Amino acid sequence: MENCIFCKILAGEIPSKKVYEDDFVYAFHDIAPAAPVHILIIPKEHICCMNKAEESHKELLGHILLTAQKLAKELGIADSGYRIINNCGENAGQTVFHMHFHLLGGDTFTKLV
Ligand code: AMP
Ligand code: ZN
Repeated sequence: MENCIFCKILAGEIPSKKVYEDDFVYAFHDIAPAAPVHILIIPKEHICCMNKAEESHKELLGHILLTAQKLAKELGIADSGYRIINNCGENAGQTVFHMHFHLLGGDTFTKLV
């Protein structure tokens, strides 16, 4: 997808600090960390946001969540706790329109819900 920052990261056109990669997902450090651990997990397929996820993405969505769990363990935040966030659309403050999940840990967070 042209002009998508995360597609450019996937293509190696923009540098990123890789944490994990497999055939379906790529995980890297957020450029402006909001917590001591702040990882972004993205599908390799360009999907703009949760609104565009379909039945055919069921397995991919589950894989993203389990990847977050695996990375939380590897990064040492599983026991202390972590938050997984997906922002979808304007009211949620989504700024990059390639679906992504934030994995945040190493700190306590204000509870929104
Ligand atoms: P969101 O606000 O949910 O759309 O999150 C987008 C996130 O992408 C923000 O936390 C940004 O700091 C992060 N971000 C934007 N550009 C880059 C980049 N080139 N490398 C790593 N993270 C980025
Ligand atoms: Zn993209």
